Amino acid sequence: MRAKKVVEREERYARQLIAENWKQERLKAAKVLIAGIGALGSVVSTNLVSLGIGETILVDFDTVEISNLNRQFIFREKDIGRPKVIAASEYLKDLNPGVRIQVHNADLHAIPKAVFESCNVIIDCLDTFEVRRWLNSVCVSLKKPLVHGGIYGWLGNVQVVVPFSTPCLECQPLIPAERLQKACTPPGERRKAEEEEEKNKVPSIPTVSTLIGGIQAQETLKLIMGGESIKILDNYLFYDGKSESFTQVQLQRNLDCIVCGEKFSLKTIEYAIDEEENVRSLKDRLIASWGLVEPIRVISNGVILENNVKMRELDIGENEALYVYDHSLFKPMRLILRT
Ligand SMILES: [Zn+2]
Repeated sequence: MRAKKVVEREERYARQLIAENWKQERLKAAKVLIAGIGALGSVVSTNLVSLGIGETILVDFDTVEISNLNRQFIFREKDIGRPKVIAASEYLKDLNPGVRIQVHNADLHAIPKAVFESCNVIIDCLDTFEVRRWLNSVCVSLKKPLVHGGIYGWLGNVQVVVPFSTPCLECQPLIPAERLQKACTPPGERRKAEEEEEKNKVPSIPTVSTLIGGIQAQETLKLIMGGESIKILDNYLFYDGKSESFTQVQLQRNLDCIVCGEKFSLKTIEYAIDEEENVRSLKDRLIASWGLVEPIRVISNGVILENNVKMRELDIGENEALYVYDHSLFKPMRLILRT
């Protein structure tokens, strides 16, 4: 019986095992984390589980809604109202019982660093800029490859970040200027409006998410298998579904990058910090005193801090500092803390 099961498993992969330079054992030993189980996460997880990746970690805190069903193919009508990671893991376990699926029905920020650290590749299938930026900073600080994908209506993009080798998402963020220039609305309301917009109004087409998610899965597969004949995507890949065109944009690493820059020059400022203050109120004070412009990134030990983090929770040693950056600054600011 046991021998039969082993044979069946090998047969499952028979058609990929005969592909040139295939290394199934590397896939079996690999562990990946998929951040966000929406349109892209559905495609990426289905592909990676089918390929026989040893362990897939799914992270999402959303529940399935009827409006998800046009593109999030792993969900069914019976899943409406259920946590996405639970419904997805059931589908994926049925699809390939021979691999492990770990689920976190939680905010990405709540995932311990050790979980990210245990993975070979992290895949960004998120739909909000700020969480994506944070994930990028985590991957750079842990030196873990990140496969980023994004979709907007007919458009899509993919970028692979190999920390300190290729540009990170913060090196040259290709974010539409209008999204960075919403200074007329008060910060609180602006954030709320952006969250609403990002959650509900982003157009999403299943054919585009299938293509972009497929490329993300492909790059993940290549990062895991490696080999001389394998070339990882090292440019920013842009897809336009209306003209059916793929364009690669050559990006350069930015040595002044606040996240992965190795020799960024700094403007050092001594700044009084209240231990009870959180990152949000620090940002508001920086807007008032230095005229910084949202979005502002506050970074400690290479990781972008969330707004609700309090200063006393930070592990900042004697000679350590916080780094602050916004797009109006030519150089990041280094804040020496004075309490
Ligand atoms: Zn960078």
